[in-house]
Amino acid sequence: MEGTEVYALRYAYRTESFKGEHFHGYAKDCHERWPIDYFTWVIVQDGVPYVFDTGFTQQEATRRGHRTYLGSPIELLGVLGFAAGDVAVVVLSHLHYDHTGYLDAYPNARILVQQAELEFWEGPYSHRGAYSHLRPDNDLLSLRKLVDSGRAELVNGDVGVVPGITAHLVGGHTAGTQVLRIETSRGPIVLASDASHFYANFEDDRPYGAVHQVDRMYAAFDTLQALAGRDGAIVPGHDPLVVSRHEQLADPRIIRLRVPPRE
Ligand SMILES: [Zn+2]
Repeated sequence: MEGTEVYALRYAYRTESFKGEHFHGYAKDCHERWPIDYFTWVIVQDGVPYVFDTGFTQQEATRRGHRTYLGSPIELLGVLGFAAGDVAVVVLSHLHYDHTGYLDAYPNARILVQQAELEFWEGPYSHRGAYSHLRPDNDLLSLRKLVDSGRAELVNGDVGVVPGITAHLVGGHTAGTQVLRIETSRGPIVLASDASHFYANFEDDRPYGAVHQVDRMYAAFDTLQALAGRDGAIVPGHDPLVVSRHEQLADPRIIRLRVPPRE
């Protein structure tokens, strides 16, 4: 759509991480260094901000360690000229701790999450081993209250958010991971979030290490490509390369996402 802008907000990063933890099938002791960035995303359409994922808090960064916190996603939204109260819709890609902080900070937003995602995290297996490390215990309590009060909506499958922005259930990384497709004047931008952490996941057909269902993650790569089409851009959820492949603004924590010109 004319005038639609999409931004990645780089609010934290971690350099002490290794290839073995990021790619399914690599030995865990593969110690090639592989840094990871943490983003949330803001779409501005007709002067209204929409938020995709809400990041983790400074306290959560301190609790987990090894993460350098650059500023809260709310502060970075302020750099773009918006307050949290301006946000009309918050879409949550999935319910891992690094995507679900600050849920109570958006007083006027509709919050959208896939029903299958919340059901999994409220179900019997989310406290077990591989899942528990990524489970956002307190954020799930906040989200449950928001659902019960009607502020948060549980959706099923592919849904329209507002004209020009659609959410698509892909699963794979988690039970109900969804991605966001935004129409811009130059073509669609597809925000993959953790459906593809890095360009190397979907470009090399290599699933991420934390994976709920491997076959659905492969299918998610196909869906990302189909949603972007020939002219669109897929933006991975945690890749430091996003900064160099797109346009860093005067505040280096803000990256304006652009569909590359056609060759
Ligand atoms: Zn995740």
